[in-house]
Amino acid sequence: MKAVIIGAGMGGMSAALALRQIGIDTHVYERVTENKPVGAAISVWSNGVKCLNYLGLESRTAELGGIVETMSYLDGHTGQTMCRFSMQPLIDEVGQRPYPIARAELQSMLMQAYGLDEINFGHRMVSVHDGPDSATATFADGSTVSADFVIGADGASSITREYVLGGPVTRRYAGYVNYNGLVDVDDAIGPATEWTTYVGDGKRVSVMPVAAGRFYFFFDVVEPQGAHYEKGSAREVLRAHFADWAPGVQTLINVLDPATTNRVEILDLDPFYTWVKGRVAVLGDAAHNTTPDIGQGGCSAMEDAVALQWAFRDHPDDVPAALAAYQQSRAERAGDLVLRARKRCDLTHAKDPEKTADWYAELREEDGTNIIRGIVGNIVGGPLTPVS
Ligand SMILES: Cc1cc2nc3c(=O)[nH]c(=O)nc-3n(C[C@H](O)[C@H](O)[C@H](O)COP(=O)(O)OP(=O)(O)OC[C@H]3O[C@@H](n4cnc5c(N)ncnc54)[C@H](O)[C@@H]3O)c2cc1C
Repeated sequence: MKAVIIGAGMGGMSAALALRQIGIDTHVYERVTENKPVGAAISVWSNGVKCLNYLGLESRTAELGGIVETMSYLDGHTGQTMCRFSMQPLIDEVGQRPYPIARAELQSMLMQAYGLDEINFGHRMVSVHDGPDSATATFADGSTVSADFVIGADGASSITREYVLGGPVTRRYAGYVNYNGLVDVDDAIGPATEWTTYVGDGKRVSVMPVAAGRFYFFFDVVEPQGAHYEKGSAREVLRAHFADWAPGVQTLINVLDPATTNRVEILDLDPFYTWVKGRVAVLGDAAHNTTPDIGQGGCSAMEDAVALQWAFRDHPDDVPAALAAYQQSRAERAGDLVLRARKRCDLTHAKDPEKTADWYAELREEDGTNIIRGIVGNIVGGPLTPVS
């Protein structure tokens, strides 16, 4: 059985590793010429970590992961603690610590585990087609490759998705912009083993530890889509948005490196439940493009990879049956996470300011129980985190 995987992001690489684990001959094609991930880090929640462990990456993942012992919400203006609580109940309940990990390191780990030399860089797929016995991808240089099936892990603007759905779809601007990067851990911003979040006015500033004494930071700001932004001006822009915020936020703005701070307009896509056309299927952001508000997009891509492996393990000689089983096991779960993230996004960014004010009031009463229940609700439901 031969598989072609388009895209060497965290979805495509996880799928390639997962399929190879069961003896499928995998071939990965990636349009960029070298590994240069956009974005600073991601939080890999326990469901995602379990997938990485399953792919044989347990010790390396733990080395790269930041240790989050506690979580806190602070009043953005005063810096006063609204709530602070241990993550241990979450770890006990789901049986795995989550790990924030620098994106470049996560991506390198996956690529190295697969074999960097085995990835076909510099191959931009321009079309994909399905036939009775094989599926074929065509690249920008005119070359083609055929296989028993093609997995389109070609990200949020996937052209595989266009093929599967029969036409393009329009993604939705979620209403805010995320500025993110890495800085050295600094107690003046937040404790070294805490995921600290400052909230106020529908804005959010957050830091969480990744390996080697660094914080992954991000700022969420409600801005119109397509607003003018000069690269390298993050400090001035953030100073203007957070002028009267707490000293910890000012410290973060002062220490961040504007040259490496990313600015991302956040979009998502209504869930859709057809992921397969014949011998072609979508995976990762190509199949479920979510806002990052519950930190589940990448985790969900890793879940797809494990589910895809299981579908081929259960239907080893029957591509249509395997891909149908894959879609069946994933589409609803992944769509649910997209909608959960959208709901959280609206609350965090004050789509309805009254509801957000109520949420701030709840945070002042919170002992962690409700927040952990919500996060556990996101984590369970994947292949390695069944609902008990
Ligand atoms: C600001 C932000 C914060 C986030 N935080 C989190 C988080 O905390 N936790 C979490 O789990 N997720 C998070 N996510 C989501 C996560 O980044 C994505 O879900 C994840 O990267 C999806 O992986 P993927 O492999 O499907 O797609 P991508 O990572 O987009 O990879 C797709 C790959 O396909 C390649 N490609 C595209 N088109 C072609 C083509 N035509 N031919 C060949 N190659 C092609 C691209 O170059 C790319 O390498 C966040 C996202 C954002 C924007």
